[in-house]
Amino acid sequence: MKPFAALLALCLAAACGGRGPASAPASAPGPAADLALTHVTIVDVESGALRPGQTVLVRGGRIAWTGPAAEARLPAGARVVDAAGRYAIPGLWDMHVHTSREGRALHFWPQFLAHGVTGVREMGSYLDSLQYWRARARQPGSGAPRIVFSSPMLDGEPPSWRHGYGVADSAAARAAVDTMAALGFDFLKVYFRLPRDAYFAIARRARERGIPFAGHVPASVTVVEASDAGQRSIEHLDDSFYIACVPEGGALLQRFLAARAPGAPADSVQPALDRLLGAMLAGPAPAQCAPIFARMAANGTWFTPTLAVHRGLHPPDELAADPRLRFVPPGLAARWAAGRRTGENAERDRRIGEQMTRMVGMAQSAGVGILAGTDASDEAYVFAGSGLHDELALLVDAGLTPLQALQAATLNPARYLQAADTMGTVAAGRVADLVLLDANPLDDIRNTQRIFAVVHRGRLIDAAERERLLRIAQEEAARAAIAPPARQD
Ligand SMILES: [Zn+2]
Repeated sequence: MKPFAALLALCLAAACGGRGPASAPASAPGPAADLALTHVTIVDVESGALRPGQTVLVRGGRIAWTGPAAEARLPAGARVVDAAGRYAIPGLWDMHVHTSREGRALHFWPQFLAHGVTGVREMGSYLDSLQYWRARARQPGSGAPRIVFSSPMLDGEPPSWRHGYGVADSAAARAAVDTMAALGFDFLKVYFRLPRDAYFAIARRARERGIPFAGHVPASVTVVEASDAGQRSIEHLDDSFYIACVPEGGALLQRFLAARAPGAPADSVQPALDRLLGAMLAGPAPAQCAPIFARMAANGTWFTPTLAVHRGLHPPDELAADPRLRFVPPGLAARWAAGRRTGENAERDRRIGEQMTRMVGMAQSAGVGILAGTDASDEAYVFAGSGLHDELALLVDAGLTPLQALQAATLNPARYLQAADTMGTVAAGRVADLVLLDANPLDDIRNTQRIFAVVHRGRLIDAAERERLLRIAQEEAARAAIAPPARQD
């Protein structure tokens, strides 16, 4: 069963707002084309090789042909872009975003495309707003990137967030999987408070229905159990995952949760929390992480660290004056500024964040597949679109090579979605989602920010169009109404 492959096939068809698959053969040099990128250097994101002097012919939303520029025959009528000195990489994917509420899509979508983020994985919202924005995204000319849609977060009762979907036991879990599958969501999102029996019931029923599940590791199960149960990806550095890599972490977490339970003596909470934080501050233990990563690698469980959201919790000063704040609704920017923490506890949490980051390089070395994701939503100082480029730089800071970071946003999402034969590389037959860069991203990952042009579904987004998209984003952000945070506890 290849559920994601099926949905990608759907997404390539007109229903997703594209122009449909290529009708021209992808064989001989110079098939009919509506766009030709000439003399470009193609970055092979599988091997890290550079192929200079290439021409890429695009037709009907697909790459129709690539080859030496000298051998290309440029069809009459094709728009020709001289890309000499530029580097072509596959369109980027942000594998963790929440675009589907508060009208966010209206200012997020243009930012994604302007910054070469041609695909995103939506990680959950209210049931009705997910359905609404999914329908909007599928309308022709919607201006949406490719979007893979999550169900609402399946969580315990009551859910952690107002937009969560409470699942109290295994019977409710089974019903929830059936409901979400019937509503056509691409995958299920699992969340922190799920009871153990409900979690495993979701895993079983999801397998029966052929729908993937991904998300957080609930406190009630271990990371290894989640991986063995078939969870497709684990999100963020926090919660159970980091704690599982910390000596005594699991036991200290359980003691903290017990101390916080209704009826427990109130004065037991702080000491339990202090002990847990102390262990987290001491850092991950390689010997304890190794078997977890080995199991994840063996099971093919992906890891989306969302370093950008962790950085936003303790933002460096320059972020507070970042020019990209003009793309953030003013009410939200004010909330971010007011929420900046200082003092002893903030410094301790920042140091814990540094320790958590070490896990990412360890996971990559152990063969765990890494996905680039930002958690762009209302998280502090996480910018839609451009934030994905921040994430790539943070992944390199965490120990990945520039090639590995690039793979985390191109090849790995394609593999995660079981669609590597249609996307994730620059080659004939793949979808025509591309980013043209002014400099080599393998020399310095920050060169992904030097965008010359973007191609989305075969359509060229040049400098003028990128500017127009960003102007729309700024206008839409300025009028966005921001609701208060929706956490329930
Ligand atoms: Zn999220």
